[in-house]
Amino acid sequence: MSAPNILVVEDEKPIRDMVTFGLRRGGFAVMEAANCREAFDQLAETVPDLILVDWMLPDSSGLELTRSLKRNADYQDVPVIMLTARATEDDKVAGLHSGADDYITKPFSQRELQARITAVLRRAAPGDGSEVIEAGELKVDLGSHCVMAGGEEVSLGPTEFKLLRFFLTHPERVHSRTQLLDRVWGRNVYVEERTIDVHIRRLRKALANGGCDAYIKTVRGAGYRFSAS
Ligand code: CA
Repeated sequence: MSAPNILVVEDEKPIRDMVTFGLRRGGFAVMEAANCREAFDQLAETVPDLILVDWMLPDSSGLELTRSLKRNADYQDVPVIMLTARATEDDKVAGLHSGADDYITKPFSQRELQARITAVLRRAAPGDGSEVIEAGELKVDLGSHCVMAGGEEVSLGPTEFKLLRFFLTHPERVHSRTQLLDRVWGRNVYVEERTIDVHIRRLRKALANGGCDAYIKTVRGAGYRFSAS
C-alpha cells in the first residue's frame, strides 16, 4: 500500500507546519489548505485518504466544511478528523453530528494524532475497501466495482454504480429524488430530478438478469426504495 494521503485544512501556519512535518516524518503524504476554498481546490485535484479539519477556519467553519464534504458523493467516503481547541461535550457532539469520524482536542501530540489517523483509516478501509455486499441475486464488490446479477457479471456506468452502491448501503428506506441528488450526485451538481429516473431506468435494465431489477422499487409520490425481498 502506498503512503496514505492526508489533506490538512488549518489556517494557522505554525500548527499546519507542525502537523504536516510530523505526518511526513510518519510516512504520510500530505496536502495542505489554509481555508475551505483551498481545501476544495485540493480535493478537485486529488481525493485524499483522510482529511484533518480545523474547527475555526477563516472562510467557513470546519463544521460546515465537514457537512458539505459528507453531502458530496465524491468525498463522503473520505474520513474526517476534526482538530479543535474546543473541548466541551456539546462541541464534541456537534463535530461528530456533522459527520466527522473522530475528534482531537488541541494541544495534541504527534503520536496521538498519528495513532488516531491510523485507527480511522483502518476502520474506513476494511480489507482495502474490498467490501462485498450481497442482496438476493445481486452481489457487488465495492472495491473492484464488480457487479454480479443472477450469477452473471454486468457492466454499469459510473453514475449507475454510485446509485446502486447508495441503495445497497441504505436499503429498505424510501429515498426522495432530492435526497438521491444530494447523496449520489452531490450538492454542487445541477441535475434535473427527472435525470434520476433516466439513471434508475438504466440501472434496472442492467440488473434485469436474475430479476434484480425488481429490487429497485418505485414508491409513488415519494421516490425509490431498494429491497431484495
Ligand atoms: Ca484555526
